[in-house]
Amino acid sequence: MGSIDPDPEATAAMNAAAGLPLFTGRRHTKPGTTDQCNYDAALYRGAWSCDRCGYAATADGERTMRRLTDREIAIICHYNAQGYQDVLGQPAPAPSWHTFPEERRAMVERQVARAKRGYSPRELFESWRAEMVELGWVWGPVKDPDAKPPTHPNLVDWDQLPLWEQNKDSAFQQAVLNYALMWVPGTAEAAA
Ligand SMILES: [Zn+2]
Repeated sequence: MGSIDPDPEATAAMNAAAGLPLFTGRRHTKPGTTDQCNYDAALYRGAWSCDRCGYAATADGERTMRRLTDREIAIICHYNAQGYQDVLGQPAPAPSWHTFPEERRAMVERQVARAKRGYSPRELFESWRAEMVELGWVWGPVKDPDAKPPTHPNLVDWDQLPLWEQNKDSAFQQAVLNYALMWVPGTAEAAA
């Protein structure tokens, strides 16, 4: 399984896909130091930023940017899944992140870490299934978190999973890889 360490080519590809211009050559100082970074910052979504050291400059001035944490990406993906369940009219859609049990929040966060390590949609699904079984969930025709034991229709083999559920795992994987590439305002310490 490959690494998804961000690289300038991926950022340039994102810019190209979004129809954004890409210029390089901005000299800059590494955030928190007086050292000059030897990597050329790129213009990305209206801000100069550096993929190597986190330097960024916008109309507001120079600032440090940071990556989203695994937990923050988990929150985004959680609401994405909730929306998908809502659109498909599935019973017992995931609750708000703030009322989602911590053991389930931690599960999503671990899935984010696995996707970043290169897990395929099928491997992500099989990890999810193993963790759900570990928590005591069993197969049932309808999702029912209040049943004793709780039931879920997706506790089957990957090949038995409906295509729209397999695609949900693909969408999760792709969302994680996309969000992991982004820079957002703020320091890494602030997100810890
Ligand atoms: Zn730099």
